[in-house]
Amino acid sequence: MKDDIKITSFGETISFQRIIGKKIGEINSPTVIAFAGIHGNERAGIHALQNVFEKINKENLSFNGNFYGISGNLNAIEKNIRFESVDLNRIWTEENLNLIKLLDYKTNEHKEQFEIYKTLKVIFKKHKWPFYFLDLHTTSSNTQPFITISDSLNNREFCSEFTIPTILGIEEFLDGPLLTFINEYGHVALGFEAGQHYDKLSVSNCEAFIWQALKVSNCVSQHEIDSYYKKSKALFSTFKIQHQFFQIDYKYNIKSNENFKMNPGFENFQFINKNQEIALSNDTKIYSDRSGKIFMPLYQSRGNDGFFIISKLSVFWLELSKLLRKFKFYSVLTLLPGVRKHKENEYTLMVNPKIAKFLATEIFHLLGYRKKIKKENLLYFFRRDRKERIL
Ligand SMILES: [Zn+2]
Repeated sequence: MKDDIKITSFGETISFQRIIGKKIGEINSPTVIAFAGIHGNERAGIHALQNVFEKINKENLSFNGNFYGISGNLNAIEKNIRFESVDLNRIWTEENLNLIKLLDYKTNEHKEQFEIYKTLKVIFKKHKWPFYFLDLHTTSSNTQPFITISDSLNNREFCSEFTIPTILGIEEFLDGPLLTFINEYGHVALGFEAGQHYDKLSVSNCEAFIWQALKVSNCVSQHEIDSYYKKSKALFSTFKIQHQFFQIDYKYNIKSNENFKMNPGFENFQFINKNQEIALSNDTKIYSDRSGKIFMPLYQSRGNDGFFIISKLSVFWLELSKLLRKFKFYSVLTLLPGVRKHKENEYTLMVNPKIAKFLATEIFHLLGYRKKIKKENLLYFFRRDRKERIL
């Protein structure tokens, strides 16, 4: 057995291992798996998981399903840094996993990735469908809590049970996040951003999110956790922006040698006007090219996402896309010129951007695809609604 990791934050010292806690239920389905500390400086989720497991054990709460708490980048958590060499939330690709299966670790993070991967394999082997994944994070700027998901219908349905906002499609702007990898196996996978890294309220928000997710997934019945559930609902009802879906319209990418500095005082979800001054890039002022809500403004030195701009999705769009996907309207796409199915992957479409010029990315989004630009100038679109598989 490995030594415990010991950390002190939020006025408390805790010790834990890769598996922060587990609770095996009576009926044995569903299984909820919560990650915390995939970014090592985001410790709120670890404290929250410890608190939740402590309560479960102390009160001997009876569970239907199973619940696991898994720690992320142990080495970085101990050092209280986001990551050592590479971001553990940007390396979840099949290529990387094939390399680490050969024990070819390029960095500490690849080693952590392999340990997490092995832990997941064991859980998948032990339990039956359905599986629900939660990934607990915090942000550098002040924010109320919110959820991020890939826009699959099962993810959407699960999020609708929470009274906080949900942002769709962030994975289109990121390479190799853990939850996109999980989503590709068809499981519900939610990112939860609890608040600012060092704010004690972030711990309470994570706890509230965990209790609610355990109930929504039917992992535990409401009467068993009634007081925690009600308290967590009350906490979430205090936030300014309640449940609604947002899409990402824009991301500011920080280049490798760029000196980027956000103007002070931006809060997450704050409305910004077109031509408003947002940040400094190598002493040049950056203005917003559109109006909308500013999202995840960067107030730390690490990371290359400067800020995002988001807008609210209409109920009409959400309902229409649900309907079109249910009736498999996407199968029509392959009849169009310049669009063909990938030979080995039924969920992937290869699109020639010159021929399919008239097809806007929005159409693909509506039908449940996310876009990635790949080699030889082809656009690749990946369908987000999938049948469940195990790792
Ligand atoms: Zn994070």
